[in-house]
Amino acid sequence: ALTTGIVGLPNVGKSTLFNAITQAGAESANYPFCTIDPNVGIVEVPDERLNTLTEMVVPDKTVPTAFEFTDIAGIVEGASKGEGLGNKFLSHIRQVDAISHVVRCFNDDNVTHVSGSVDPIRDIQVINLELILADLETVEKRIGKVEKMAKQKDKDALFEFEVLSKLRDAFEDEKPARSVEFTKEQEKLVKGLHLLTWKPVLYAANVSEEELLDADANPYVQQVKEFAAEENSEVIVVCAKIESEIAELEGDEKEEFLQDLGIEESGLDQLIKAAYNLLGLETYFTAGKQEVRAWTIRQGTKAPQAAGVIHTDFERGFIRAEVVSYDDLVAAGSMAVAKEQGKVRLEGKDYVVKDGDVVHFRFNV
Ligand code: GDP
Repeated sequence: ALTTGIVGLPNVGKSTLFNAITQAGAESANYPFCTIDPNVGIVEVPDERLNTLTEMVVPDKTVPTAFEFTDIAGIVEGASKGEGLGNKFLSHIRQVDAISHVVRCFNDDNVTHVSGSVDPIRDIQVINLELILADLETVEKRIGKVEKMAKQKDKDALFEFEVLSKLRDAFEDEKPARSVEFTKEQEKLVKGLHLLTWKPVLYAANVSEEELLDADANPYVQQVKEFAAEENSEVIVVCAKIESEIAELEGDEKEEFLQDLGIEESGLDQLIKAAYNLLGLETYFTAGKQEVRAWTIRQGTKAPQAAGVIHTDFERGFIRAEVVSYDDLVAAGSMAVAKEQGKVRLEGKDYVVKDGDVVHFRFNV
């Protein structure tokens, strides 16, 4: 399963946020495919569409979809020098598919900052630099292998050499791989290098309780937003402390608490949605009387493989999928009316399932 790793310097609120994630915790009985690991937190993906479908179908139960956050342990500074815990930090990052980078944007004299002062951009760069140095090493090793062949005018080697040089230049300027522009073909090659700084990133700006409502007035948040904009990354404002309080509440209580605070959507919910998108994940629905349920697929997944997320038998015996888009179904008001209106399509094995599709699979057992 795809996962996003939570990273950050010590004392930025990482554990507080991760605890909120595990506490809000999905019922793991519903998600047998998820990892059981203390460093992994399973989160349910908040999705208003699921509520609407539930009101329409009135099923026995409703099950949201879920995915995983991984708490990345280890020491950051000096990690690229490859010793002990630092090495572990890098190898953990290597295993995740996207990065949620928690940045301290709150002042609190009671909470020591490892570098003595609050400075989010410096903090971001400390971590980024370790990743960049590790990538530089990867690229230099590779260049050593390719250079000779490139000199002999080997076409593939020349192509690779060009890409590697571009990367090396960026790393020497302390820029991540994701900030470099590549052609589609070059991108394929870069992907194969499994670089740490190629992974998509989002920044979670951790602000104080007082500042949550007017976060844009917080100059640290502004700095992070400017920095993130330059590398096309997203910033989510959270208050880890409040999130850990919200995580203890259920349904209506949570709604009331948010209303009292004057917040529409919790920072954690926003973070979950943003991380889900960052991983390139999408949701389709099944809507039967027994169960209305959301399922996760990667963008571009075809119908049989989407069916396989429910059960391998569904994929093996796939015949067709009855599909109606969420918007069409809601406009029709019921599956029966959607069918009358001709909005329910029969799709075959090459159909690419879209975000929001409501699907009924037909299969042989
Ligand atoms: P980590 O080392 O990054 O995992 O940081 P922790 O989550 O352990 O937080 C370090 C300290 O900062 C703890 O004392 C937290 O209570 C405090 N802290 C975390 N988030 C916030 C916040 O949003 N506001 C304030 N004031 N303190 C926070």
